[in-house]
Amino acid sequence: MNFNEVQTPCYVVDERLLIQNLELLKSIEDRTGCHILLAQKAFSMYSLYPLIGKYLHGVASSSLHEARLGYEEMGKEVHTFSPAYIDSDFDDIMKYSDHIVFNSFDEWGKYKDRIKKTNKHIECGIRINPEYSEIETDIYNPCFTHSRLGVTLANFKPDELDGIDGLHFHTMCEQNSDTLERTIKVVDEKFGPYMKQMKWINFGGGHHITREDYDVETLIRCINYIQDKYDVEVYLEPGEAVALNTGFLVSTVLAITENEMKLGILDTSAACHMPDVIEMPYRPNIIDAGEPGDYPYTYRFGGPTCLAGDIIGDYSFQRPLTVGDKVVFCDMAIYSMVKNNTFNGVNLPSIAYYSKKEGMKVIKTFGYEDFKSRL
Ligand SMILES: *Cc1c(COP(=O)(O)O)cnc(C)c1O
Repeated sequence: MNFNEVQTPCYVVDERLLIQNLELLKSIEDRTGCHILLAQKAFSMYSLYPLIGKYLHGVASSSLHEARLGYEEMGKEVHTFSPAYIDSDFDDIMKYSDHIVFNSFDEWGKYKDRIKKTNKHIECGIRINPEYSEIETDIYNPCFTHSRLGVTLANFKPDELDGIDGLHFHTMCEQNSDTLERTIKVVDEKFGPYMKQMKWINFGGGHHITREDYDVETLIRCINYIQDKYDVEVYLEPGEAVALNTGFLVSTVLAITENEMKLGILDTSAACHMPDVIEMPYRPNIIDAGEPGDYPYTYRFGGPTCLAGDIIGDYSFQRPLTVGDKVVFCDMAIYSMVKNNTFNGVNLPSIAYYSKKEGMKVIKTFGYEDFKSRL
């Protein structure tokens, strides 16, 4: 793959790497009979939905627009969950969704008659909060104190389950299957009595299935355990795992300055193009770069905005950098395009993919209108 072929900044997704992930996910569906959905919140590059749809069962959505995108561009099952639905959206949510998951019994009570009255079969679920999670960062922990996501056992209403086909929990983030196994134990203890009457259980996302050290056999054991014990179908809705390590963000060095260390200003911004770098926070990997000090030439990279904290991180190189050099960030398919913005008038990166058949293909570029039209 030749990154010099694209104008920067540009997200590039490598179809060959995506297919590797999809094949692993498909093998789990084949071995267990479970259904895997793409959580669009992590990755909504819909030009690849026809490909993803060959391997996965459909999409998970958290809004009307995501539901519609999945319906129109993948055309398979559409599952929708929202912490609270917008009344005026709900008819369209029903139009685009096969499964609708509610965040409380109040919400279920509010909408169930409308669901009953449509001539379409929609399966309904309740999101539960098992109050067990091993996530240490609160912003990513759906079980932190007073979390608004899901119904706790204390608030669960067994006498309002008529019409409910499934239970949904989502309590993981970038975790391995040992965490799932411990979570399932708690879910089973607390909500087992209600699972018998369900058609399906949705294990949510956060399963880092396509990471190198992920233990697939434990995941398979967890799925089979719940399917066999309660005679239910299991759904998983990973976002990250679908497109993990399949994308790059290609950028160019615009300027090199100095302030007690070498500073590189890039044409890509942490704040605009990879907001998780600041939100998580984390330091993305760069091809051919090391930790500061690993190699002789260390630089701190920042974006072209006027935000002082628009800093990506410190990196070292074997050779000194010069203006015009390409800097390629790794694992930039997920939670990047879906979260980017035009703060400070910074243009959005174009979007490209590389396939064996067609080589590098730019499928989308952005300009002034994309900035102006949102304001
Ligand atoms: C975010 C989210 C997912 C996907 O999570 P990943 O960490 O990207 O796998 C799935 N389901 C729900 C309800 C979510 O909020």
